[in-house]
Amino acid sequence: MTETEAAAAYPPDAPASQALFDRARAIVPGGVNSPVRAFRAVGGTPRFMVRGQGCWLTDADGRRYVDLVCSWGPLIHGHAHPAVVEAVTAAAARGTSFGTPTPGEVELAEELVARTAAEEVRLVNSGTEATMSAIRLARGYTGRPAVVKFAGCYHGHVDALLAAAGSGVATLALPDTPGVTGAATAETIVLPYNDLAAVEAAFAARGDTIAAVITEAAAGNMGVVPPRAGFNAGLAALCRSHGALLVVDEVMTGFRVGRSGWQGLDPVDADLWTFGKVMGGGLPAAAFGGRHDVMQRLAPAGPVYQAGTLSGNPLACAAGLASLRLATPDTYATLDAIAATIGKLATEALSAAGVPHRLSTAGNMFSVFFTDAEVTDFAGAQGQNVAAFRAFFHAMLSRGVYLPPSAFEAWFVSTAIGEEALETIGAALPAAANAAAREAARA
Ligand SMILES: *Cc1c(COP(=O)(O)O)cnc(C)c1O
Repeated sequence: MTETEAAAAYPPDAPASQALFDRARAIVPGGVNSPVRAFRAVGGTPRFMVRGQGCWLTDADGRRYVDLVCSWGPLIHGHAHPAVVEAVTAAAARGTSFGTPTPGEVELAEELVARTAAEEVRLVNSGTEATMSAIRLARGYTGRPAVVKFAGCYHGHVDALLAAAGSGVATLALPDTPGVTGAATAETIVLPYNDLAAVEAAFAARGDTIAAVITEAAAGNMGVVPPRAGFNAGLAALCRSHGALLVVDEVMTGFRVGRSGWQGLDPVDADLWTFGKVMGGGLPAAAFGGRHDVMQRLAPAGPVYQAGTLSGNPLACAAGLASLRLATPDTYATLDAIAATIGKLATEALSAAGVPHRLSTAGNMFSVFFTDAEVTDFAGAQGQNVAAFRAFFHAMLSRGVYLPPSAFEAWFVSTAIGEEALETIGAALPAAANAAAREAARA
């Protein structure tokens, strides 16, 4: 597409999306059901999507975009993969929910256990539920109250985990949002990511009160920030020696970066894991699991209560199973290659335009930080030039590439990305890099 053609195909206004957004804002807070969708971090009108096919999204104005969000990770095979659609359709025809055990739940649980170090799993409906339940179980198992989390790691909107480091003493975590009481985060210790010495110090000070350390297997919610070599293993060792449990959150990495998730690339001796996103194949399914003796403390086997009306939903299990069964070693080789290609194209364009940037990767998850400095934690991620990202984002959007609408999110690829999509991305990048360069020059 030439610049003139692009300008004609993607005018800056999006009237049909705007009309839907206006209707939505009248009756839904901010017009969206999850905040980042509102484009607040980048400005402009969020695009209301009406169709997804392979790697292409179509918005309400009939414009097509290469999708580099993939529903925030789940869609490794792209949109509406025939095997997934068929599995969901067949399951729906048999009945959408029973509130009884079903065979699909057993099959999905077996698939998760076969692929990971978890000996037992419990299915839930969202990543939030998975981490919330894992923390409850860790507290119930150890009889201890405190939980260590890392600044910039996101584990869903669990009250106790919606805390980032306030200034001052790390043990005094301040709630991130009104509505979360100080009591809910009083037992949350927030530490800098990738800083084992800080974890050691916390254990030295409060070791016998710490139930669990929770970490993203590889951080992907402050942009992508991989764990330093030995960080996850160091956490496991510290937890072990102090009688705390290590909860590794693989909701994003699980079955995306590899057949077994991040633990396949960087095995550590965790006690509990959480999964979501890919394992639901685009429907709401998630899980937590781990050691047999810990999981046996969960009701009805044990005393720690946890439940869900729609947990193990037949449609979600069918979508997840179909999606996982399609995910062969070839799938991951393809995802890795596509991610590497797009990362390289982005880096080349930004370098050519003289834009300070860092490509940051964790397996096939990646993001571009608009900064010169290496990013190893949340403070580093916050040091980037978000205005440059904003200009880059809109230039890509207006040329048919849908990036995550925030500088603090991972880019996700699917195996459905082919030649035409790569050409679209390659054609959009130089102009987007120049837009970012103009913005960076103003700083
Ligand atoms: C997305 C995500 C969650 C929350 O999952 P939801 O399904 O949105 O509740 C938790 N942990 C990580 C690492 C995630 O990426």
